[in-house]
This record gives sequence, C-alpha cells and structure tokens, in this order.
Amino acid sequence: MSNVEQVIAFANAHRSEHLDELRDFVTIPSVSAVPAHAADIRRAAEWLFNWIATEGGKVELIETDGSPIVWGEFTAKDPDAPSILVYGHYDVQPVDPVDLWDTDPFAPTVRGDRLYGRGASDMKAQIMAALIAVRSLVRQGELPVTVRLLFEGEEEIGSPNLAGVLTEHADRFKADVCLNPDTGMLGAELPAIRYGLRGIAYFELQLKGPARDLHSGAFGGVVHNPAQALAEIITGMHDADGRVTLPGFYDRVREIDATEKDRLARVPFGETEVRELSGVTQSWGESKFSPAERVGARPTLEINGIESGYTGPGAKTVIPATAMAKISMRLVPDQRPEEIRGQLEAYLKQHVPPTISYEIVEFAQGASFICDPTSPAHAAFSNALSEVWGVDPILSRSGGSVPVANDLQELLGIPSILTGFALPDDQVHSPNESQHLPTWYRGTEALIRFMTDFGGRRR
Ligand SMILES: [Zn+2]
Repeated sequence: MSNVEQVIAFANAHRSEHLDELRDFVTIPSVSAVPAHAADIRRAAEWLFNWIATEGGKVELIETDGSPIVWGEFTAKDPDAPSILVYGHYDVQPVDPVDLWDTDPFAPTVRGDRLYGRGASDMKAQIMAALIAVRSLVRQGELPVTVRLLFEGEEEIGSPNLAGVLTEHADRFKADVCLNPDTGMLGAELPAIRYGLRGIAYFELQLKGPARDLHSGAFGGVVHNPAQALAEIITGMHDADGRVTLPGFYDRVREIDATEKDRLARVPFGETEVRELSGVTQSWGESKFSPAERVGARPTLEINGIESGYTGPGAKTVIPATAMAKISMRLVPDQRPEEIRGQLEAYLKQHVPPTISYEIVEFAQGASFICDPTSPAHAAFSNALSEVWGVDPILSRSGGSVPVANDLQELLGIPSILTGFALPDDQVHSPNESQHLPTWYRGTEALIRFMTDFGGRRR
C-alpha cells in the first residue's frame, strides 16, 4: 500500500470514532445570533482548542470584541513544504422554527445515511473533515503540508471582527492558499470548486414630487406622479436584451474567454434548471450569455423593493408625494464598487425629469473575487476530487459572495479554494439540517489526497 492509501485506510478504519467526535461538536448550540448562547459559542471555540491541542497542534484563542477566533497550526517537518490555511466557522444558524425539527437540533441523530443537527453540514462536518485529514496524515507518518487553522464564531452574523484580526495577526495566517469548505457540492456525484464570486453595490433611490399626497381629481394631469416617474426611471435601467444601461457599467467587465466558456458550459444551470429551481415559466436576461455565465460572470442590476402611495385595502385616490426603490448591483471583475454610484448618478442626471427631485442613499458595497482555477493548489484539489468521485469537479463562478475570501485576497494576498462536502439538499439554515455521511467520508479522503499531492509540489 502506498503511503496515501495507508492514511486513507486509517481514516476509514476510524469512521465511527470520527462520527462520535462530529456528533459531540454538533451538540454544542453555538448560535451566534442569540446573545443567550454566548457561553456556548465559547464552548465550541474551546472544543476546537482542545481537539487541536490533544492532536499536538499549536493553538490559541484570539480574543475579539465578540467571539474568539481559533488559530492553530500543524507544522510540516519539511521547512520548504507549502502551506494551507483552513478556514471554518464554528457558529451556527438559529434553530427556529424549532417545532419543525423531527429531532432536537442539538441532539444530533443518525437516520439513514445522514447526521441530523444544526450546524452538521454548515459547517461543523466540513471543519472536522479537514481536521481528521490532518490527524490521519500525522498519525500515519508525516504531514506533507503546513496546515494553519482559522476558525471564527461570527460568520452567520457577518464576521464583524474577522478583518481586524486578519490585519493585526497577518503573519500567523500566511499560507499559499486558503481551503474554504463552506460552499459545498452541486450534487452527491458532482464535486465542485467555485473560483469566482460577485461583488455588490446597494442603493436606495428616493423620489420627491409634491409636498404631500394630493387629491388625484384636483391635481391629476398637472402634477407628475412620483410612482409613475419611478417606474419610468427604473424601466430604463435595462435595455430590451436585459443589459444594464448605466453609463460605463460594462467598461471594466472582463470578457469570458473560450476556455472559461467551456468550463462554465459544464455547470448544470441551464434553462431547465432555472425554470425548475425558481418556478418561472421562462428565463430572462442577456441572450448572448448562458444562465451559468449570467449569474457568475456577468454583472446585474436588480430592483429589490419598491414603495409608493396607497397600498392598504380598498381605494384611495391620491397622487403620492414620494416613491422609493431599493436597487442593488451584483458586480464582477474588474468592476469597482466605488465607481458604481457615479454611474448611477450619471444615469439619473439623464433620466430623472425636471418635475421630480431625488436623493440616493448608499448601503453596503463589496468587491468581487476571482482566482486562477488552474493554480497548483487548485489543480491538486481538483485532482483529489476527480480521484475520489471519478469525475472532474465542476468549476464555477458563484453569483453570491463569501466576504472572507475577499478579505484574505485583499488583506493577505491569499487565494481561496471554495469548496466543501455539503449537498444542495442538506437544508442548511432550515429545520432538519443534515450532513450526508458517505459524502463526508469521501470528502475526508479527498482532503488527505489533496494535502499529499499539494505537499509534493514544492514552492
Ligand atoms: Zn457556512
């Protein structure tokens, strides 16, 4: 047996102990959104601290204004070995509505081939898969990579203290690549790596017309109705092909080259999936691009909400004084979030009629993210997934965002492998969350293969 096969055999031989450990970890109700669980959050951090210390790793709790961040390190003997930073969050979502759970969310239960419990899939099993891979490698010989650990307890509430800790302790989190197993697979037989994320810019557009709501009989026909003006303004923000019309919006958008087109063509998100997953009768958007390209590699503008005039029961004949729309843009490389406001203002200057005045309120903005899915680390991870699943992983760009990936890229220059062994039907954030155990075991094996392969590639 080659060394890597021995390590995998060790992991497989100890599955029931590993499952007991995972179950123990899931028992801790580390709900970050509920202040009453503060002591449980600390207990989860200490649980990880003890696990790492018992296995012989270096470990420390870094205190913040909120939950502690668990830092750890398992050092490779070879000083030239590459390094991996494993990211995870030990906090979990609240359990409400708790009566919809078939079993107690914090009394983890195996039914069929799944472990049910809050945080099982998102993401305590993911953290444990990485830790068990490290343990198996250490116990069966030599760790081929230096593994640093970054486990936070505030991901589900927006990671308010993470960027500060990364900046302050930058030297401790250095690594060639971050393994972030928080995005999951596309199906039990479809391993996946996300290599891009969209950014965001979010605004509220407030229109003002008359000084107060007016009688539509007395003023209809002489006063421009702000609700109508709002409709006219936002209608013009897309052309007939679904392209955003803000001046300069596409100037920095990276073209999708032929290699990437082929890559994204493998993503199982086409016309049929759009219909099935969303309940619409037909997809919408830029006809030149496939659905997978449109949600990953193209920027968009959405109206997230509209409010104006009388919306209560029955009739009320008014011309409203104001109208409001929430408008957000999902951004792709190399758009700059700070430039979007200027583009919105330029559009409004052209399109808001003199009968109406307006104001823009700016909310969150965040940068997009992309890394090279053919880097040595990505290639090693991709090979590991192929060996275990017998298919090449799907490489895709996600339409959403993972702020820690941006922070690591921007603050420390570390690219991320966004992946994981959660499945789309794990019901994360919902009642009856579960982890599919066969996928968890395969994931652990893939991580052992990845660390071995990547460790063999000298920097
Ligand atoms: Zn998560």
